[in-house]
Formats: sequence, structure tokens, C-alpha cells
Amino acid sequence: MIAPALFVGHGSPRDALRETSASKRWAAIAAAIDRPRAVLCISAHWESKGVLVTRGERPRTIHDFYRFPEEFYAIDYPAPGDPALALKIETRLQAFNARADLDSWGLDHGSWTVLRWMYPAADVPVLQLSLDVRRTAGGHYAIGQAIAGLREEGVMILGSGNIVHNLRVPRPRGDEVFLWAGRFDARIGALIEAGDHAALIDYQTLPDAADAVPESEHFLPLLYVLGAARPGERPMLFNRQVLASVSMTGVGFGIPDSAG
Ligand code: ZN
Repeated sequence: MIAPALFVGHGSPRDALRETSASKRWAAIAAAIDRPRAVLCISAHWESKGVLVTRGERPRTIHDFYRFPEEFYAIDYPAPGDPALALKIETRLQAFNARADLDSWGLDHGSWTVLRWMYPAADVPVLQLSLDVRRTAGGHYAIGQAIAGLREEGVMILGSGNIVHNLRVPRPRGDEVFLWAGRFDARIGALIEAGDHAALIDYQTLPDAADAVPESEHFLPLLYVLGAARPGERPMLFNRQVLASVSMTGVGFGIPDSAG
């Protein structure tokens, strides 16, 4: 079994507790694929100096947000870790100097807001791989290529971020979508469908990139998933929706058409 490589546009932590059209699709994808042996999540919310992989037996649920109602701090996603798999990943990523993280991190809301819908029983082991802030976009893509082989061992690669993510602009009234946000999301979608990974790695030079990706951390998880795609593997785009200045668009490799 070859596990999928999946990028999801995650929403606000609020979407952990309310069903949306996006979260319904995540659940439908999980229902349509073979159950992975484990999930390796690359979340926008874990940036570090150096490449880190969680190696705890019981990764803790991290509530990495501020001024939310109390019920959000009570959310627990008690998925087990997999220390043996973490060790394998460190070995696989030796060229990138990957190191184990025993307890400084766990599962942040980039992981669990999505996984609560995909695997509500929290019975699939979950590991996280950090975003090394010192690497170039091409370096992040190369790490995605280096973890691609894990898919053959049944490990799902899950990138969690947003193709468009700009919370600096004031929220418009109603359902308005910023034109640059819609344009950038559509352009990235077309490049994914065309398999033009070189242009995607070079995203900062694309029109509207300065508005759509003012900081890189929500975009970079996409590059891991593209790197983990197999040659010629067809991408499936889903949740193609832009909410004001955040895009929910996702892309999956190795998921059946029926899940789209
Ligand atoms: Zn986020």
C-alpha cells in the first residue's frame, strides 16, 4: 500500500469544533483511503532552527493560540507517537541533520484541527516534522523528496498550512474575497496541475506573492507534499475555496477520485 501525500488548507482553531465544508472533505478523504500506519505532519505552526522530528511516545496536544474561548484549551488529541518510526525518519534525513524532539513539541493545532476530522478516534500514530527556518524553499522541497519513500511503508505525509495566508489585512465585510488572493490560489492550483514544481518552489517571484504569502510558513508545507509526490503522479485538488485572505485549497497524491 502506498499512503497518500496530502496538503490541506487548515482553518482557524475554531474549525476543530465546528463542521465546515472543508472538514467534511477531510473526513471523506480519510474514509476513502486505506488507513495509514502513521501520519507524518508538517505543520505551518512548528518552526525551528534545524530539522526536528517528534519522538515522544505520547505527543501532547499543544494549544498554540491566544484569547480563544476556554473549550479550545480543553481539546485533547491523544494520538500515540511512534519512536521507532521517528528514529527511521531521522536516519532518512541524516543529510539534513535531523534530530529528535522528545518533549519540546507535540501536536499543534495545524495537525489536530485536521486530524480530529480525519481520525476522530486518535488511533493512528502521529509524528510532526518541523520547518527549519534556515532553509530555502528548494531545501524544504528536497526534504519532501527525502521522505517520499515513507509512503511505501504506509506513512501518510500530511502538509498543513494555507496557499494564501495573510492575516495582516483587515477582514472585509461579508463574503468578499481579495482579488489577489483568488488570483494567487488559482495560479498555484494551475501550476500544481501542470506539475511545474520549479515554478512552485520559486513561488516568491509569482505575481501577487507578496500579498498572498507575506510570510512563508503556511505555504512551505505544500512544498513537502509536492516533493513527496511520485514522478508522474496525478494531483487531485479539493476544497478550492478562498475565504477573504486565506485559502482552504488542498491537494492530494494517491487518493482515489471518489474522494474529490
Ligand atoms: Zn495556521
